[in-house]
Amino acid sequence: MSLERLLADVSSDVAGILDRALDGAELSVDDAERLLRVEGPDFHALVRSADLARAQDKGDDVSFVVCRNMNFTNVCYVGCSFCGFARHKDDAEAYDHPMEVLLEKARDAVARGATEFCIQGGIHPNKDHTHYREILETLKAAFPKVHIHAFSPEEIDFGHRKSGMELADYLRWLQEAGLGTIPGTAAEILDDEVRGVVSPRKLGRDRWIEIVTTAHSVGLRSSSTVMYGHIESPRHVAEHMGLVRNIQKQTGGFTEFVPLGFIHEKNILFNHLGARAGSTLYEDIVLVAVGRLFLRPWITNVQVSWVKMGPKMAQFGLLAGANDFGGTLMEESISRESGSEFGENLPPEEIRRLVREVGRIPVERNTVYGTLRRFDDPEKDPPSREPAKETELSGPTRWRLAEERAARRAAR
Ligand code: SF4
Repeated sequence: MSLERLLADVSSDVAGILDRALDGAELSVDDAERLLRVEGPDFHALVRSADLARAQDKGDDVSFVVCRNMNFTNVCYVGCSFCGFARHKDDAEAYDHPMEVLLEKARDAVARGATEFCIQGGIHPNKDHTHYREILETLKAAFPKVHIHAFSPEEIDFGHRKSGMELADYLRWLQEAGLGTIPGTAAEILDDEVRGVVSPRKLGRDRWIEIVTTAHSVGLRSSSTVMYGHIESPRHVAEHMGLVRNIQKQTGGFTEFVPLGFIHEKNILFNHLGARAGSTLYEDIVLVAVGRLFLRPWITNVQVSWVKMGPKMAQFGLLAGANDFGGTLMEESISRESGSEFGENLPPEEIRRLVREVGRIPVERNTVYGTLRRFDDPEKDPPSREPAKETELSGPTRWRLAEERAARRAAR
């Protein structure tokens, strides 16, 4: 079979959409839905087109941020059905970290090169808006140069309702205390029917939009996210992306788009409410590729989540339209508690290696995508700042090392 014949196998409607996307035309929500359903040769054409678009939009650089996640409490009574992280306050595994613990985590992060603290927590019924401000003031006083990326729209909603202030005033009040940007999480799928199953007591679609657009209007930029692989259809995802793009046209406040695959193992949504068992390989890659083609030129940073996809699938995402590898995280518990097995920390040297393995150039960035350092030459990489780890050796390796030691002793 010739290459020409292989290309002829791509469906004509898909080929037309990809052609238009590569010509710089804006795709419709219907186009996005069609691309989200591709299979076989159409899938390969989509991946290749998104990779070309990535090269046009961002070149070969792959950015990442050295950051630390801090979840200050896992006590939460909102009860989202996809969540494996939340605990009742009397649960043995519940925690509510005092400021000293957050400061200790922050000190460790800065010693390891962090430029960002990413802070989110559960909605603790005994807290109010003053708690969020106290966290900001405490960390900013100790580490004035570190960027604080904190509080999901759900947490903003909770704090705002407790505060009695106007929303814009409340956001400025947090900004004055050190808030730099907010995560565009708690979005899941911005459709109230889907939200009625996955997060029935969380803020609704319109409130999410109100919080994010108001944040952008006061100068607090945010990421944008989508959670897929549960009960949603490709149409829901396409409309969600259309909404994100419309907000971006209005505010310009989104820094990036981050597809987040649903982790299914330890929650009600999969175990009792009939959700799919998380995202498939196809979905993980297709979401990245469609994100690239559909959101350009409004949002040109498309991030892979190594926590959700795993580092190898995240590498594949870099070949399918993504240009950002996310953060080091240092301590990740929200995905882990839902069953993710991909670890809590990916040191900068590991991210650089993974990026180079797919032929790209690692670039350390700040939270709002300013370049901090390019790593063109592996020979000039800085030494690791990670704490020394005890290496667990396999049985045969231990025996071999013991034999070598014995041989050296005998030879003396
Ligand atoms: S996803 Fe967030 S708001 Fe929902 S239950 Fe979990 S911690 Fe609470």
